[in-house]
Amino acid sequence: MKKIEHIGIAVKSLSQANDLFFRLFGEEHYKIEEVKSEGVSTSFFKMGDTKIELLEAQGQDSPISKFIEKRGEGIHHIAFEVDDIAEEMKLLQQKGFILLNEQPKQGADNKLICFLHPKSTQGVLVELCQEVKK
Ligand code: ZN
Repeated sequence: MKKIEHIGIAVKSLSQANDLFFRLFGEEHYKIEEVKSEGVSTSFFKMGDTKIELLEAQGQDSPISKFIEKRGEGIHHIAFEVDDIAEEMKLLQQKGFILLNEQPKQGADNKLICFLHPKSTQGVLVELCQEVKK
């Protein structure tokens, strides 16, 4: 793993959170993106070399609504950049980590992603992400 690519924060209202984080950072989000397969709307803020991803649920079935129901708004996941996500997934699986998806899937911000089950990572939802090369 190379670095923290972004930190994901679960919010109830994306527009409200965009305003708040704009006031906090002094800079606007640089994109908004829907990830229909995950049932989320996201926005991204640049923070030097890393990013903050805000996540709003698109419906009751979204993992984000379930997260907020259980734990409230707040830090949802930490995403680490990797060069070769398939290889990294294989290695981590061999080391006993539990993957939430067997195959890399399309995430926001032009990334292939995979989540590790928080029960194998000390309660922290870890996301691996690899830039999709065009
Ligand atoms: Zn993420």
